[in-house]
Amino acid sequence: MHIFAIANQKGGVGKTTTTVNLAAALAAAGQRTLLVDLDPQGNATMGSGVDKQSLENSVYQVLLGLATLAEARVVSPSGKFDLLPANRDLAGAEVEMVGLEQREMRLKEALTLHNEDYDFVLIDCPPSLSLLTLNGLCAAHGVVIPMQCEYYALEGLSDLVNTIKKVHANLNPDLKVIGLLRVMFDPRAALGQQVSAELEKHFGDKVFKTIVPRNIRLAEAPSYGVPGVLFDKASKGAQAYLAFAAEMIERVKTL
Ligand code: ADP
Ligand code: MG
Repeated sequence: MHIFAIANQKGGVGKTTTTVNLAAALAAAGQRTLLVDLDPQGNATMGSGVDKQSLENSVYQVLLGLATLAEARVVSPSGKFDLLPANRDLAGAEVEMVGLEQREMRLKEALTLHNEDYDFVLIDCPPSLSLLTLNGLCAAHGVVIPMQCEYYALEGLSDLVNTIKKVHANLNPDLKVIGLLRVMFDPRAALGQQVSAELEKHFGDKVFKTIVPRNIRLAEAPSYGVPGVLFDKASKGAQAYLAFAAEMIERVKTL
């Protein structure tokens, strides 16, 4: 079982889009996949076709020890992967977990019991370096970082890389950066090309070969509760995420 956190402390950089589409593409490729929604906004939950308002249990109950993962997980009706959903309840978890022992290890513990159930677990992290993200990073073997190729992207990246180093040193020796995924790419923008080249120079083969273009179909899909890779399979965005899933399946063979 490979557990990956999809993380970037910036909001709106494509974490959720990447998590949902990668999960659906992996499932379509026959990989047993679990998506963990760790964001109180519940965007990955809605984007997977599950109504966040009507959840009996969610990742919140699992983190607090009020329900097991087996009780809380559901199947994405559109994406055909398992989903540990989230909603606004999760916003309170941060505070309520403070008194708990090993509070950054709660998700890891919940997943340990399901070692045999999945090939891939993908964790959609919230846009912060909070206790929730820390739970994601402590549970994961690696981090996938989606980023836009814009001027400030590199600056934000160093904060995240430093956090990953600290977690690696103190809490999770398994943790490493799996790769950087260029998303919402506009091939006509000169700055994008420059930043993209700079990323390759600094991070070498930590930069995934797949580049996800800016594509309106990927942005439309969530309002239908269908992952973009299934919503319009022929679109450039869907094709990119399908290619990314194939690249991930190859990449994990080298880990
Ligand atoms: P995050 O989870 O990092 O906050 P999202 O995945 O929610 O980011 O993406 C932010 C917004 O950008 C959403 O409205 C999403 O639909 C849109 N978006 C993400 N990736 C693409 C893309 N490749 N092309 C067009 N729109 C995208
Ligand atoms: Mg998100």
